[in-house]
Amino acid sequence: MDEPTSALDVSVQAQILDLMQDLQKDMNLTYLFISHDLGVVEYISDRIAVMYLGNIVELGTTTQIFEDMRHPYTRALLESIPYPDPDKKGSIKPLYGSIPSPRNPPPGCKFHTRCPYAKDICKKKAPPLVDVGNGHLVACWKYVEGAYK
Ligand code: SF4
Repeated sequence: MDEPTSALDVSVQAQILDLMQDLQKDMNLTYLFISHDLGVVEYISDRIAVMYLGNIVELGTTTQIFEDMRHPYTRALLESIPYPDPDKKGSIKPLYGSIPSPRNPPPGCKFHTRCPYAKDICKKKAPPLVDVGNGHLVACWKYVEGAYK
């Protein structure tokens, strides 16, 4: 399902999500659900894959992603969620750097042009997905032992 609720208003969205969950239980279904709405993603998902320019950069359970995110892009995404609290205004940390063209992505880690933690290796080689514990996978040189100096 590619952005199945993005054009719906919030009350209809909730009804559709509830209907989908009922159908999932009744028919023992698995959904592949694609969305930019992180609130919806958290509500509907058991496991989440975070993608950047066509690659999975982090994969884990909903708890792993929302409470123990490791990849700098995942962290930036979650920090961009607006909270309906005026006291939290200004807490969003924007990402700097240029957004690469998906047709001509940069070499190495595709996120290195925007990553505040990028080092030389990040510009040259794409990081592998590594297990940081309990099946929580992250593609970042910071988590490859001995690689991030
Ligand atoms: S591999 Fe390097 S550039 Fe990519 S997310 Fe990790 S630290 Fe940032």
